[in-house]
Amino acid sequence: MLFANPASRTIVGRSRIGGDGTVFFLVHESDRELVREAAIATWEHGIDKTITVRSIRPDGRVRYLRAQVRALRESEDQDIISGRWFIAANDVTEEVEARESSERLTALLEAATDVVAVFDPNGELLHLNRVGCRYLGVSDEAELIGRAFFELFDPASRDRVRKEALPTVLRDGTWSGEATLVGPDLATTMSLVVIGHRAHDGTLEYCSAIARDVTELKEVQHALAREATHDALTGLPNRTLLFDRLNQAVMRTQRSGADLAVLYLDLDRVKIVNDSLGHEAGDRLLVEAARRLETCGRSLDTVGRLGGDEFVIVAQDLDGPRGGVRLAMRIVHAFNEPFDLEGTEAFVTASVGVAFRVQQEDTAATLLRDADVAMYRAKEAGGGRYELFDAEMRAWATDRFETETALRHAIEREEMHVHYQPQVRPETGEVVGFEALARWNRATTGPVSPSIFVPLAEETGLISVIGAYVLEHACREARQWTEHAGQPLRLAVNVSGRQLTQPGLLEVVERVLDVTGFDTKALTLEITESVLVEDPAVARTRLEALRDLGVRTAIDDFGKGYSSLAYLQRFPIDIVKIDQVFIADLGREGPDTTIVASVIELAHALGFEVVAEGVEDDVQLGALIELGCDLVQGHVVAPALPPAAAAEFLHARDGRDARPTAGVVAVSRVG
Ligand code: C2E
Ligand code: MG
Ligand code: MG
Repeated sequence: MLFANPASRTIVGRSRIGGDGTVFFLVHESDRELVREAAIATWEHGIDKTITVRSIRPDGRVRYLRAQVRALRESEDQDIISGRWFIAANDVTEEVEARESSERLTALLEAATDVVAVFDPNGELLHLNRVGCRYLGVSDEAELIGRAFFELFDPASRDRVRKEALPTVLRDGTWSGEATLVGPDLATTMSLVVIGHRAHDGTLEYCSAIARDVTELKEVQHALAREATHDALTGLPNRTLLFDRLNQAVMRTQRSGADLAVLYLDLDRVKIVNDSLGHEAGDRLLVEAARRLETCGRSLDTVGRLGGDEFVIVAQDLDGPRGGVRLAMRIVHAFNEPFDLEGTEAFVTASVGVAFRVQQEDTAATLLRDADVAMYRAKEAGGGRYELFDAEMRAWATDRFETETALRHAIEREEMHVHYQPQVRPETGEVVGFEALARWNRATTGPVSPSIFVPLAEETGLISVIGAYVLEHACREARQWTEHAGQPLRLAVNVSGRQLTQPGLLEVVERVLDVTGFDTKALTLEITESVLVEDPAVARTRLEALRDLGVRTAIDDFGKGYSSLAYLQRFPIDIVKIDQVFIADLGREGPDTTIVASVIELAHALGFEVVAEGVEDDVQLGALIELGCDLVQGHVVAPALPPAAAAEFLHARDGRDARPTAGVVAVSRVG
C-alpha cells in the first residue's frame, strides 16, 4: 500500500493502515482471491472492476466495502510486477444487510401457508405472497400491485375492514377480524390480522396483513353447533333446540296473540319392534317416523325429537284450535299406514297429546307438560289416537304432580309404613310367613292406596327408594319375630318390574340381608309376570343372580296376564301366586274351580309351590284345601296387619299350634 486517505482509515476502523503493508491485510481472508483476480483482470484488460468485499475491523465487526479497482498501467509492455492500482471503496454494509434481510423476509413470506399482503397507509397494495395470489386467482403479484387492498374482499367485509381496521391499527397497532377474500370462482372466509408499521417519526409507514383460511374450521364449528342442537339419528331438532323454538314461539304469540299449539307424540309399541326385529329396525322406524311427521307439519312448524320414541311439534298461526286438531288428526292418520322395515311390515301407531296456549301464564314448560299429560291419556285409551288437554286434565295433572311431590318426601316424613299379611297352610292354619305390603299414610289426605302410589313411584323412579326402604324395614322386623317364634319365618317382599330390570337390585338385597341379619333362604321376592314378557333377557339374568344368592322368587298375580306356566318354567322361579280373580268364584258354579285345579296340578308337576291370594271366605278356602294348594293368603285368615298386630297374630297362632282353623272347619263344610 502506497497511500490511503483518512476516510479509508475510518472505514476499516484502524488509526493506522499498515499491518503487513499489503492491501490484502485489510480484506477478509476468503475475499482476498477476489481482490487478486480483479487486480489481474484490470491490468490485463485495461478496464475498471467493481467488487464487494468484506473487511474485518479489529473489534471483529464485518464491514462490506464496494471497491472499484483500476490498474494504473503506463505502457503496453509494463510488467505487472511493477504495476500500481487505484482502489476507491465505499462502505456499503447497511445496504447489503438490508438486502439480505429483505431477501430472507421474502423467502419466509413466500414459504408461508397464510396469505401475506403489505399495503401502504392509503390501502394501496405493495406486496402479495404466492398463497395470496393463488386465492385471488392471479399468477403474479404484479397483476394486483397498486390496487386497493380492501378491494380484495367481498363488499360486506370490505366496508367493515376499511372502517374498522385502519383506525384500530392507528390506535392500537393491530386489528384482527374475519373477512372473505373473493377469488375468480371462490370466496374464502379468512381470519385476518393487520399490523401497522411506523416510521421513526411515528407516522404509519405501511401495514402488513396476514390472512388464514378458516373455511374448514368454520365447517367444523358449524357441524358441532348442529350436533349440539340436532338429533343424530333423525336429523330433527333435539330437546335443546326444541325448547328454544318453543320459547320463541311463546314470546311471539305473547306479542301477537296468534295461535300456538304443542303436540306431544309417543309411538305405540316401539319396544315390540326393537325386541322382535332388532335395534337397527327400531332406528329405521324412528327415522321414517320423523319423515312422516315432517310431511304432516307445514314448513312453519318445528318438528323435534325429545328422545326415545317421543316427538314434539310446535305449530303456530293455526286457524284456531281447529287447525291444531286437524294437524293431530293428520298425524294419527299418517301413522295408521304400516312401516316398511326392509321387507317386514310393522304397525306402529301414534298417541298424540295436544295443548293450546290459552292463558298468558302458559310457558314452554307448562305447554309441554300439558301436551304430555294429554298424550298419556291418549295412550291410556289404547293409543293410535289424539287427546286435547282440557281443564279436567289440568286438575288431574295438578293432583298427580302434588301427589308425586308428597311421595318424594314420604320416607323422610315417616309417612311410609309396612303392613304384614300372614301366609298360612290352609289345612292347619300354621303361619308360614308374611307378605310385606307398603302403606303410605299421607299427612294431608290420609292413607293412599298402593294401587295409586306404586304405579306413580314406578313412573317417577321413586320405586327403587321406596322398595329398598320396605325391604330393609320388613327384614328387620321379621327377624325379631323369627327370634321370638324360635323357628324360621318366611317373608315375601314385592319388587316392581322397574326395580328388577334396573341395575343395583342385587346390591340392595345383599346389603339389606347383611345389615338386618335376616335369613337369605327365608326371603321371597315377588315379581309380576309382565316383566318376564317385556324384558325376558334382563329378567332372567337378575332372577338367576337372586337364585345364586339363595333368595326365593315368586310370580305375583298369576293369571292376570297372558303368560303360561310353561313360559314361567323357563325362568328360575320357585313360587306361583294365583291371582284373586281366579279365587273369587272358587267352589262355586263356573269354570274357575277347574282352571285353578289344573293350574295347581300343572304348577306342582313343574316344581312350583302354589300360593292363593285374596282368599276371602270359607268356600274358597275349602276348595283350595281340596285342590292341594300349598299356602293361602287373604282376608279369611287376616288382612294386612300393622307390625304389632302381626306379631300378636303370630303368637296367638303359636300358642294354639296346629289347632284347626277356619279353613279346616270350611273343609268339613265343603266336603
Ligand atoms: P299384591 O302384591 O298382589 O298384594 C296383595 C294385595 O291384595 C294387597 O293389596 C292386599 O292388601 C290385597 N288383599 C289381601 N287379601 C285380600 C283379600 O282377601 N281380598 C282382597 N280384595 N284383597 C286382598 P294392597 O296392599 O293394596 O297392594 C296392592 C299392590 O300394590 C300389591 O299387590 C303389590 O303389587 C303392590 N305393592 C304393595 N306394596 C308394595 C311394595 O312394597 N313394593 C311394590 N313394588 N309393590 C307393592
Ligand atoms: Mg305381592
Ligand atoms: Mg298379588
